[in-house]
Amino acid sequence: MRILVTGGAGFIGSHLIDRLMNAGHEVVCLDNFYTGHKRNIVHWLGNPNFELIRHDITEPIRLEVDQIYHLACPASPVHYQYNPVKTVKTNVIGTMNMLGLAKRVKARFLLASTSEVYGDPEIHPQSEDYRGSVNPIGIRSCYDEGKRVAETLTFDYHRQNGVDIRVVRIFNTYGTRMLENDGRVVSNFIVQALRGQPLTVYGDGSQTRSFCYVSDLVEGFIRMMNNPDHTGPVNLGNPGEYTILELAQAVQSQVGSGVDIDYKPLPQDDPRRRRPDITRAKLWLGWEPTVPLQEGLQKTIEDFRQRIEAAG
Ligand code: NAD
Ligand code: UDP
Repeated sequence: MRILVTGGAGFIGSHLIDRLMNAGHEVVCLDNFYTGHKRNIVHWLGNPNFELIRHDITEPIRLEVDQIYHLACPASPVHYQYNPVKTVKTNVIGTMNMLGLAKRVKARFLLASTSEVYGDPEIHPQSEDYRGSVNPIGIRSCYDEGKRVAETLTFDYHRQNGVDIRVVRIFNTYGTRMLENDGRVVSNFIVQALRGQPLTVYGDGSQTRSFCYVSDLVEGFIRMMNNPDHTGPVNLGNPGEYTILELAQAVQSQVGSGVDIDYKPLPQDDPRRRRPDITRAKLWLGWEPTVPLQEGLQKTIEDFRQRIEAAG
């Protein structure tokens, strides 16, 4: 098949492209390199099955493809809050452009949505029928509400125009190729520990998150895209739930650099708890994560160690 991956030069997108290329598909990677990087896909440049297009999805584009994995959107609060109006445009205009493309060429369209659509959840763990508790005017809204509209658009293109859609809601995912300055918690802690700097815990560190290793997530993406029956939404994430302080301690002990913890103010609207209910993913896709936190952290630490050493 010919498959389009928007945001394909980013963290998750580039891992997805590796899987699709290794399965023998033709892949078109579309990215504006806001948080993506050529080094993530450089190993495919020159391969006749691979095409890289520098393009901003807020502008329309014409391509012939069979499937579209739509991931283009900054995912780290630091990056999506840097230019919030652009984040809204990417989620709304960008998603509309990609759905328009799917409609025109009759491609199956998978939206990479997020657990952020649940906001600061009042129910725990979060299942797909929970409608969320989102602040429409806060500093996270450009992303949370942007993704909620992206989901709305996706379902309206399905109902109104018959576009064949899939929606996945991704919970915190980590792994190799995250940016050193990504700003999300796993990469921050690992980079800080490797540099011998204190780990910045926001608030008292009692807030929780559930961390999924990227290879598990990509497996879920591919299963959801290729399942014949279900549009979604479906939660994809690891149900193992940790406080941020527990994560800091895990990184401290695995890096073994003896660094301290530096407590910083909790950002506005930071969700208190988050854990996916993955009953639906198990039932529909036979999917559940297989990589435990310790193992995923080890791989991620090794990747950052090599990059930091290479940079001197
Ligand atoms: P990332 O920042 O590494 O990747 C996003 C990619 O999109 C980058 O390559 C970036 O350059 C590109 N991009 C951004 N705006 C664009 C635009 N206007 N036009 C073209 N390209 C654009 O982030 P990621 O962690 O790989 O996330 C990928 C997707 O998964 C995002 O849609 C994100 O919202 C979603 N997601 C990720 C997580 C997570 O924990 N990693 C959690 C929930 C949802
Ligand atoms: N966090 C932290 N230190 C950091 C970065 C993040 O304590 O250096 C916290 C953040 O306040 C949040 C959690 O870790 O409670 C996860 O943050 P991240 O930005 O990774 O993802 P999100 O909040 O979008 O789930």
